[in-house]
Amino acid sequence: MVRAAPSDDEIVTGGCAYDARVVSIRPCSRQMCRAPAVATLTYVYADSMAVLGPLSASAEPHSYDLCEHHSDRMSAPKGWSVLRITEHHDEPTRTPLYGA
Ligand SMILES: [Zn+2]
Repeated sequence: MVRAAPSDDEIVTGGCAYDARVVSIRPCSRQMCRAPAVATLTYVYADSMAVLGPLSASAEPHSYDLCEHHSDRMSAPKGWSVLRITEHHDEPTRTPLYGA
């Protein structure tokens, strides 16, 4: 049996180069939750601190991707502190009333 060379069609659809480009879109790591992750929760064991920040570019050990819902509801284990890092640098702050 001679193995045929892959056809043009197989070459186009068989690769995973495209999939490698969409790693930034990951699902929430909570069970039963398939919402897209918007934040990454990282446990810093040395400081007993849970850091919730913008979605990391790559999955790291000891970090968990959370969707908006679960990142809002997440709470640290007892004795741990939570540090939330928002990426809304230009979020409008409460503007003081000037001269009013
Ligand atoms: Zn979720």
